[in-house]
Amino acid sequence: MKPKESFLRALHREKTARPATGSATSVVTTDLMEQTGIFFPRAHLDAELMAGLAAAGYEKLGFDNVMPLFSVCHESAALGCQVDWGSPHQMPVCRNKLAKPGDEIVIPGDFLARPECQVPLKALRILRQRYGEEVAIVGKVFGPWTLSYHLFGVQEFLMATLLEPDAVFRAIDQLKRVTLTFALAQIEAGADALCLADHATSDLCSPRAYRKFLQPVHQELREKIPCPLILHICGDTSDRIPIISQTGISCFHFDSAVAARRARELAGPDLSLMGGTSNLEIIRKGSPEMIVEEVREKVAAGIDIIGPECAVPLDSPSENLALLARTVKSLPEK
Ligand SMILES: [Zn+2]
Repeated sequence: MKPKESFLRALHREKTARPATGSATSVVTTDLMEQTGIFFPRAHLDAELMAGLAAAGYEKLGFDNVMPLFSVCHESAALGCQVDWGSPHQMPVCRNKLAKPGDEIVIPGDFLARPECQVPLKALRILRQRYGEEVAIVGKVFGPWTLSYHLFGVQEFLMATLLEPDAVFRAIDQLKRVTLTFALAQIEAGADALCLADHATSDLCSPRAYRKFLQPVHQELREKIPCPLILHICGDTSDRIPIISQTGISCFHFDSAVAARRARELAGPDLSLMGGTSNLEIIRKGSPEMIVEEVREKVAAGIDIIGPECAVPLDSPSENLALLARTVKSLPEK
């Protein structure tokens, strides 16, 4: 079975010869940049470089998918946020607040034509052309909750969820169109599946707020986006995995704050699970023995796609990622 088939079947919990291995978020490290000769920040801003660095996720690390949108800033930058694109040692960050939660958000008419969207769209096309038969091509969009953090500021937005819920509903309604527009363009460019990252972590969004503001929107995005979706939320999500499993989303990319067995119980039989491997303890600091044991534990817990929990810290050794992928691939076929 080709890596692409393993990955895409695992997204639907269909039978595979072995568990899949990969990630919906960035697997780039500074030493991977050194191995490829392609560095941040240029890899965020040049399609050929972006595709080249993303391809290293397959070529050098051995994962079953590639994912070229390394940062969290493309949509926000195309909407007009100022972005500091960082360095080989630092991920990009959005620098300014663009609006207040009650303001009308106008999506620029040329949103998709702006370089911050065009670069990843072109990178997806390149990856599709070079690897499309062999490897799963995964794109990434941000949901309206994360986009609100970038546009309004985290504090301002969270205050508004308590004090101005109507303004929050309106903002989410406007921003979900950004998510949908970019998602459809990425599918057209060649993405087989999309990461939907929406940072509704339990310390910033109660289960009640998740149900009220976001579950209907995630369900609507799932209905309108015609490819498998991988929802990514960091932190402890045990209180909302059962709610997520009701949205019809294919896969949940979970954080090690939820133990793998617990995540499997909460997800039920239909929601595929990806990740759950600690970036700090295993990917960054783990010994080879710990990594082999980690894979064994994830397989036993019924995790469908084995890989890091979230964007990998840039100072991690890429050999740990490669060992994780090799260990999964060396499992006896079922
Ligand atoms: Zn995350």
